[in-house]
Amino acid sequence: MRITTAECGIVGYSVATIFPIHASEMKSFLNSLSRPPDRWQRLLQVLFALVLVATASTSAVMASPVHDHQDSAASLQDAARPLILPFREPPGPDTWLLGQTYGNTVGAYFNRNTTYRFSQGIHFGIDLSAPCGTEIVAVADGVVALVDAFAYGSLPHNLIIDHPQLGYASLYGHLLQKPDLQPGQPVTAGQVVALSGDPAETCFGRPHLHLEIRDYPGRAWKYNPIPLIDADWDNLALVGSFQSGFERDLDDPRKWQHLDDQPPAVSGGRIINDFARPWPRQR
Ligand SMILES: [Zn+2]
Repeated sequence: MRITTAECGIVGYSVATIFPIHASEMKSFLNSLSRPPDRWQRLLQVLFALVLVATASTSAVMASPVHDHQDSAASLQDAARPLILPFREPPGPDTWLLGQTYGNTVGAYFNRNTTYRFSQGIHFGIDLSAPCGTEIVAVADGVVALVDAFAYGSLPHNLIIDHPQLGYASLYGHLLQKPDLQPGQPVTAGQVVALSGDPAETCFGRPHLHLEIRDYPGRAWKYNPIPLIDADWDNLALVGSFQSGFERDLDDPRKWQHLDDQPPAVSGGRIINDFARPWPRQR
C-alpha cells in the first residue's frame, strides 16, 4: 500500500490525539518500567498501546483521501468514454476486428467527391470487420429511434438508437436483416439488437458493421466514436485491415493523423480534406 505525505500526517495526528505524552510524564513512565513490582503490568500497558497505535494507523490509511481521488478519476473516465463496444464477443479473427477507423482516412479521401461527399470527405463512422450474423449490442442504454431508415444510408438494413441522457445517437449499418425492434422500445447497454451483414450482400464481399455516433436530437453531426467507446483502440489498430492510415496534408502534416484526433463532420458541410498537397497522391 502506498502511503502519501498526507496519510502520514493523518497517522501522526491520530497518535498525538490518543497519546498526548509530555517529557516529564515520559520520564516517570520509563522509570516506572524499571520498578520490579509493576514490571509485567507496565509491559502489558505498552503492548496495549502498540495495538492501539497500529489500529489508529490502519484506520487513518483506510480513510485516506487518495482513495477518493482514485474513485473520482475512474468516474471521470467513465463520463468521458460513456459507450461500450458494439459486440458481445471479444475481438479476434473469428469474431471482429477494426476494419477502417473514423475520420480523414485514405479511403475516405479518395472517395471524398462520391461516397463521402455529404460528410465533408470524412469516413463518418467506424468499420468493424465481422462475419455475417455476428451479434451486435447497444453501445449504451437508450431508445430505438428508427429501423431501416434508408435516408441515413448504410444499406441493406440499419438501426438507430437514441441515447438522450448522453446527448448521442448510435447508428448500426450494413445489417444482415431488418432488426426485430420497434421505435420507442427501450434497450439497455450490451443488449443484442441486430446481426452484422455486408453492404455487398454476399457475406464474403466486405462484411462489416458500420457504426456511427451522432448528436442527439439532431443526428446531423457525426463524431469520432474512438474517444467515446471504452476500448483499447491502440491495440485494436495493430491488427486487421486498417493499414493505409490517414491521408496527409503536406502543408500541415500532423493534422488528423491519430485515431483520437479526427474532426467531427456535419451532413451537407463543405469537404474539409481537399488538400493542395495530399499524400498519398494516388492509390
Ligand atoms: Zn463505414
